[in-house]
Amino acid sequence: MMKSLRERLALLPDVDVTADEPMARHTTYKVGGPAGALVVAHTMAALQATLSVLYSVGAPWFVLGNGSNVLVADRGFDGVVLMLGRGFGEVAVRRDARGAGAHTLEVGGAVSVTKLLRVAKAEKLAGVEQLGGVPASMGGAVRMNAGTRAGDVAQSLLEAQIVVANAAPRWFPARDLGLAYRHSVLPVGAVVTGARFAVTDATDAMFAQLDEVLAYRKATQPLQMPSCGSVFANPPGDAAGRLIEAAGLKGRKIGGAQVSEQHANWIVNTGDATAADVRALIALCVAEVEATAGVTLRPEVQLLGDWEVL
Ligand SMILES: Cc1cc2nc3c(=O)[nH]c(=O)nc-3n(C[C@H](O)[C@H](O)[C@H](O)COP(=O)(O)OP(=O)(O)OC[C@H]3O[C@@H](n4cnc5c(N)ncnc54)[C@H](O)[C@@H]3O)c2cc1C
Repeated sequence: MMKSLRERLALLPDVDVTADEPMARHTTYKVGGPAGALVVAHTMAALQATLSVLYSVGAPWFVLGNGSNVLVADRGFDGVVLMLGRGFGEVAVRRDARGAGAHTLEVGGAVSVTKLLRVAKAEKLAGVEQLGGVPASMGGAVRMNAGTRAGDVAQSLLEAQIVVANAAPRWFPARDLGLAYRHSVLPVGAVVTGARFAVTDATDAMFAQLDEVLAYRKATQPLQMPSCGSVFANPPGDAAGRLIEAAGLKGRKIGGAQVSEQHANWIVNTGDATAADVRALIALCVAEVEATAGVTLRPEVQLLGDWEVL
């Protein structure tokens, strides 16, 4: 089925299809086997046509952003990994769109947080700096309600543009997306293709503060090794890293995966990790923290693909 599906998708205009694409190339963990097809839709029409085909065939598919929160199985994913292409990479500033001094930043779903912040800095706009340091695409950031100690997407998101199969793109107000701590309730099969943020005029001091935050992250997080950032959401009133450290797991290795010596809520790929190594270490952290602290950690990282039973 995958071969004929690939052939059908490859006929669509502005759609790139690659067979058996290793997902290690598209995830920040740098692990994971092949996807049956990697499909990049470069325009809204291409995306709609792709979704329509996927829906009609009933093919398994997954929308991937920057791959910074996904762990793909070593055996890969026997389905379609869909990505947004060049038509979703624009950032537009609409000054005074909501009244004097109340501006809007309109961002394509494939835009990186890095690019968004670059534009905000150049245009002296405040309202998205709380995302500083998150290596996300806008689609992934909205889906995960990404954020830092300074705040999250929900803090300034006005609305998100969402596409589902066989329907016109629609803007949903942020309040309808169920945004909570690293969580959203997007409709099933939804692709976030754009986002509008409320922004105001920024001061230079704000960007100096952001540079300090980024320098702090660099000093305290193992950014030089492949990872997905924090593996677990912090349980209410506690920190997952503290619980993992208290369980004696800081530095623990399984194969090439290691609980970071620098930050115990990060599991890093020391060079030759497999997805199975990472997953086994995640399972160990959950079990040990449950046994020692009676707390069940919730992984933030999303698993994709054909996993062997642990
Ligand atoms: C070094 C490092 C540091 C990190 N620091 C932080 C941090 O400070 N705060 C934080 O919140 N996270 C952090 N993360 C985790 C990660 O960056 C976030 O979860 C981010 O929101 C994921 O975005 P993404 O584009 O990479 O999504 P992906 O990892 O590609 O996908 C994540 C989820 O979003 C969905 N998705 C992706 N694109 C779309 C789309 N267009 N439409 C609908 N759904 C979509 C996917 O299907 C999947 O369910 C960090 C990760 C790394 C590697």
